[in-house]
Amino acid sequence: MEEKAQKCVSMGRTVINDKGSVTFNCPGCGNQKITRSFKARQISARYKCEECSFEGPN
Ligand SMILES: [Zn+2]
Repeated sequence: MEEKAQKCVSMGRTVINDKGSVTFNCPGCGNQKITRSFKARQISARYKCEECSFEGPN
């Protein structure tokens, strides 16, 4: 498995060693990996899947 820098979809920032960040598969299509930084979760920033346009805070 290759190490890739995760990018927070809400903030558009690269997340490295962010303990509060989460990465999960898109609830809509299950293909895209959604990464949210701790800050994005704190402020409930919305995210959008690039593949299926699923949007949500959850
Ligand atoms: Zn999706």
